Amino acid sequence: MIVFDLKCGGGHVFEAWFKSSGAYEEQRATGLIACPLCGDSEVGKAVMAPAVAAKGNQQPERPVVPADSMKAALAAIAEMQAKQLERSQWVGTAFAEKARAMHQGEEPEAPIHGKATIAEAKALVDEGVPVAPLLVPVVPPEACN
Ligand SMILES: [Zn+2]
Repeated sequence: MIVFDLKCGGGHVFEAWFKSSGAYEEQRATGLIACPLCGDSEVGKAVMAPAVAAKGNQQPERPVVPADSMKAALAAIAEMQAKQLERSQWVGTAFAEKARAMHQGEEPEAPIHGKATIAEAKALVDEGVPVAPLLVPVVPPEACN
């Protein structure tokens, strides 16, 4: 199994699992790979890792699942993100600001998640800040009170 960070024509970055590099090329060529957010099939390899990924030795275990379909791949991503969120800090609407500060070395790198508008997320992607859309539902802490 091999995992690729993929990016759609709309700038969304997501991960997908494939049996091999060849399987990825084949599925891409036949339009079987689509963005989970906008359905765009103009998908290519992205060079960035998702924002929710922990750094260094905190690298979470990658779930190994058969991923012949995007559905299985997405389920695997959701499961991985759910695990990552346990260690990730909710930063609410400060997400874009904090992600940018970490990327520029103004703040120590840490796993964070929060809210960002599509425009903010696109700006981050354009600046090379590694961010990824969350595929799992998140209840903001402030909503629990
Ligand atoms: Zn997309």
